[in-house]
Amino acid sequence: MIKELHDKIVNGEITAVELAQKYLDVIDEKDGPEGLNAFLTVTREEALAKARAVDEKVKKGEKIDLLAGIPYGAKDVICTKGIRTTAASKILDNYKPPYDATVITKLQKVGAVMLGKTNLDEFAMGASTENSAYGYVKNPHDPARVAGGSSGGSAAAVVAGEVVWALGSDTGGSIRQPAAFCGCVGLKPTYGRVSRHGLIAMASSLDQIGPLTQSVEDAAIVLSRIAGQDKMDATSAHSGGKLYERYLTRDIVGKKIGVLPAEVYDNLDPRITESITRAGECLQEHGAVLEEVALPHLKHALSVYYIIMPSEVSSNMARFDGIRYGMTADDGVDNAPGDGIHERYQDTRRIFLGEEVKRRIMLGTYSLSAGYYDQYYNKAQRVRRLIHQDFVDAFKKVDVILLPTAPEVAFKAGAKTSDPLTMYLSDIFTVAINLAGVPALSLPVGTLEYDGTELPIGGQLIGEWFDEEGLLAIGDVLEHALKR
Ligand code: GLN
Repeated sequence: MIKELHDKIVNGEITAVELAQKYLDVIDEKDGPEGLNAFLTVTREEALAKARAVDEKVKKGEKIDLLAGIPYGAKDVICTKGIRTTAASKILDNYKPPYDATVITKLQKVGAVMLGKTNLDEFAMGASTENSAYGYVKNPHDPARVAGGSSGGSAAAVVAGEVVWALGSDTGGSIRQPAAFCGCVGLKPTYGRVSRHGLIAMASSLDQIGPLTQSVEDAAIVLSRIAGQDKMDATSAHSGGKLYERYLTRDIVGKKIGVLPAEVYDNLDPRITESITRAGECLQEHGAVLEEVALPHLKHALSVYYIIMPSEVSSNMARFDGIRYGMTADDGVDNAPGDGIHERYQDTRRIFLGEEVKRRIMLGTYSLSAGYYDQYYNKAQRVRRLIHQDFVDAFKKVDVILLPTAPEVAFKAGAKTSDPLTMYLSDIFTVAINLAGVPALSLPVGTLEYDGTELPIGGQLIGEWFDEEGLLAIGDVLEHALKR
């Protein structure tokens, strides 16, 4: 998709301005709070100015990057200088960051055209975007269903044709699960592959930025442009400027695909299991070899994640005190704010933070508190190490591991909002990947019919640390094999 549009811009078949306008028209037609609700802010003027600059270059015969002039959306948890960045929270309703996230700077340098900021669960905490303070994102296949989360706005915008691709962030599945629910490709890179500078932190040892796209090739193209070491993020890893799209050779003969024992699929809709089995068979037909791997600690991943993640959340959320950023207790209080500094903190946080965010702050504070630290946080860290070791052992035998992305397809809005634990179960297949830090790619592997609507099923390929090229190459073969 990106390559075709790039060729059109270079050949003069379409200008970057016309392209931006075309996508902005789709946003006008489909989005808004009554529509898809995928965008929280649309940056029309900035986008058109950027596109004009690309057209100037083309006119002068200058070489442009593959992403130049290509419209994209950025999840509203990624800081954009002077452009409202809310994290879908009332507490940042008025927040305009004084700087750009590193990924945004990198994309600006290559001439990518940002059309706006996409909706999400508040501070990326959730699996359906129903925790957004600005309303949930509708699934493009059925408006009564959720788009997944937390990068629901990014996924819906890509699938509805409002942007060519979008940036998301993934702490426990937030790129991959909405990609699965809406039917697009989502890549969570290896922890450290992409700079987190300017990503509003949820759980810093798990967060990673990545692309949601219409094809595996597009994901590779975007990754090549956002990856790399950054002095502003001490956890970003040295990676030598690879062009991942060059590794999509369509040759996977002899590659080993890890599949999990049958009991992992207990209690799953058999149609999801069938789609994953078929994906495995497709790879086999293309010369890959299937091999069973055990991830014995996978069953503990959800419990471990829901201790470590809130612990980090409780620490990261401390900065929202109503003084340094965003709204303060004086903005829209329901009663007069207290005078003391503590009352002001409390008022700001009580009024402007949503229920789920508060729940996680409390859970995290509890697990980190003296007396409970060893029982919860410390123990979870030790089991995290075992989960990491499971992947080390598995990757001694196989090149990638195949798994469903989510245990279900897009569910109805409201179906899980009253029971946070059922919502957390959505993350059962995604969180282990973040705990271990490995990269994973979700792509559509089939559909399933509910009430006359075909809903996408997502399959997940998990790669070895820093082997995005190997992962994408296998994903690219699978994507094409399934299309035939
Ligand atoms: N659904 C997960 C959660 O609620 C994942 C969130 C994320 O990856 N940002 O924590």
